[in-house]
Amino acid sequence: MSVDAGDGDVLTAAVRTADGTGYAAYNERADGSVAPFYVVYADSDRTDRYGYICGACGSLAVGMDPMGRLDCAECDNSRKAAQWDAAYL
Ligand SMILES: [Zn+2]
Repeated sequence: MSVDAGDGDVLTAAVRTADGTGYAAYNERADGSVAPFYVVYADSDRTDRYGYICGACGSLAVGMDPMGRLDCAECDNSRKAAQWDAAYL
């Protein structure tokens, strides 16, 4: 994984994105078939959502279709829309 836990609090980790630094929110996750996906924000205040990071391989190449399905382009991790886990807060 490319997550650097040395920056931010325990629930937020700085990650390298194509646009610079992003912040992965470990308490905002969606369960995937292999590992959870985490929401990534462009700022540490979590106001500007950047996308998702794959918890299995650390890739930011996670696509989301209009049905809410997540699919990692780098590994086999994926999430069906019905598997959204909003209870983990
Ligand atoms: Zn992946």
